[in-house]
Amino acid sequence: MAETKKTNTKKVAEKKEAPKAAPKAAPKAQAPKAAPKAAPKKAPTPKKVVEEKKVAPEVKPVVEQKVEVKEVVKEEPKKEVKVETPVAAKKDEKLKVLFVAGEANPFIKTGGLADVAGALPKALVEKGVDARVMIPLYLGIPQEFKNNMRFLGNCYVQLSWRSQYCGVFTCNYQGVTYYFIDNEFYFKRHGLYGHYDDGERFAFFSKAILESLKIIGFKPDIIHANDWHTALVPVFLDCYYRNDEFCKKAQTVYTIHNIEFQGQYGDGLIGDILGLNYDQSLLVRYGGCVNYMKGGIESASRVTTVSPSYANEILDPYYGYGMQDILNARKYKLSGILNGIDLEKNNPATDKSLFANYDAKTVFENKKLNKVGLQSLLGLPVDESVPMIGMVGRLTHQKGIDLVTAVMERILDMNVQMVVLGTGDWKYENILKDMQNRYPGKLRAIVNFSSDMASKIYGASDMFLMPSKFEPCGLSQMIAMRYASVPIVRLTGGLRDTVEAYNHETGKGDGFTFLTYNASDMLYAIERAVGLYRDYKDEWKKVVQNGMAKDFGWSNIADQYIKLYNEIKQ
Ligand code: ADP
Repeated sequence: MAETKKTNTKKVAEKKEAPKAAPKAAPKAQAPKAAPKAAPKKAPTPKKVVEEKKVAPEVKPVVEQKVEVKEVVKEEPKKEVKVETPVAAKKDEKLKVLFVAGEANPFIKTGGLADVAGALPKALVEKGVDARVMIPLYLGIPQEFKNNMRFLGNCYVQLSWRSQYCGVFTCNYQGVTYYFIDNEFYFKRHGLYGHYDDGERFAFFSKAILESLKIIGFKPDIIHANDWHTALVPVFLDCYYRNDEFCKKAQTVYTIHNIEFQGQYGDGLIGDILGLNYDQSLLVRYGGCVNYMKGGIESASRVTTVSPSYANEILDPYYGYGMQDILNARKYKLSGILNGIDLEKNNPATDKSLFANYDAKTVFENKKLNKVGLQSLLGLPVDESVPMIGMVGRLTHQKGIDLVTAVMERILDMNVQMVVLGTGDWKYENILKDMQNRYPGKLRAIVNFSSDMASKIYGASDMFLMPSKFEPCGLSQMIAMRYASVPIVRLTGGLRDTVEAYNHETGKGDGFTFLTYNASDMLYAIERAVGLYRDYKDEWKKVVQNGMAKDFGWSNIADQYIKLYNEIKQ
């Protein structure tokens, strides 16, 4: 969930070129809601791929409208990723939810948002909801997924004076229908966020979501938008699509996964890209600029965040990143629902990245094989008795990496090994690399994004350090507990809601905690954990077992979302 850079959008608009498949700019007078024009003859990249493969006939797109649909593409069924025709257009009795996000597992991921977009819709489908997911068709989506996508149709999206091509592809993965918005100009780039024109890219995506409903033939009861990337969906819905047959009844839920990243841009964007009139623009104007998140909060029927504690915290200036006044005014529609983790994907009993699989029964025998395996792999001294502390996450101030680097020597003085995996601020990346050079027998800093290495660290480590300055929910600590790595966390947001401090008297609890954002307090929590690990082995086992026994699955959480959706459904 990286933030976008602030952009001088006017300059951007002058410099940019239209995508190959897009028509020339629409005249200024043209209404933003103009009907899609005729489809071009060639579909963009993924179609080419499919055409080259020459495969299965008779895969018909689900199209209820008269929108022009491209020729049915022949494609070769791949074994790994099963493609099915979406059928939910017939399931009118079901609650219909369109989950829209900037990323979704397993297609593309930068952080926890992708995990949620991959897991919540699946849990909803298992509960009988017709939940579907829509994300951009990024260059970085692996080809094996692209090979199995099917082209449904295309339309054009008006962004003020621009008319931009929008293709729609689909596939079914583990029972969930996914849609991919294609525009090579906006999404055929390396990386997901952080481009000079992110404001325009995600304004396009947000409008394309609403425009493409007629292509996919879906009239959602609920559109569930997430973070700044899709915060404009409720805004555009209210401003442009309330009379549209496909979304006039749709209610919106807007979920804040991280309030730090709000999508802030210069106000030149309002007329030049968003095409909003003065009254409409009040929805997104905030603090002298355009703020996508503010628009989402103002326009959505309900606003949620990803843990009850964080929902409380963001009402406070310390955590609110300037949004606290807006949220306090909209408190009546704000709530917090804790995230879960995908129990199938994050399962030490089946995880192929581990050196040895284990469950609650075999954990104390097999977990040490993972420690020894990782030590050998990383060139650390091989010793199954040395406490290993793991960290997996973005190397940014949010995750408390400044506390860790401040007292790294004192942590390593406890005769522990530490393995850190992450990318982020170059400052922390460099400090960690430098410290690794100074303590080669104790510290490994892997500056990379690797799900395989993440699993290995969860599996090998005895403790998992997550001293976040703020943490909307946090998934890593839950994954760590499931992998028998005891969390050491600061009591904030979702960490407060998921980790219970171990109580020596009662034997309850599954982690070690500290409250104040302070390196000494963190150090004391680490000392307590290492002390228990070394000197009270039976008690340590109890802490591990308590964590492993916790249910972090999505089933109960999906029920909470269904309740919320039903409260606002029309
Ligand atoms: P975030 O604030 O980044 O969303 P979360 O704890 O909610 O943090 O989710 C992070 C997710 O991303 C977890 O699944 C974690 O394992 C994964 N992750 C974070 N950094 C890396 C990395 N460098 N390599 C692989 N996976 C990572």
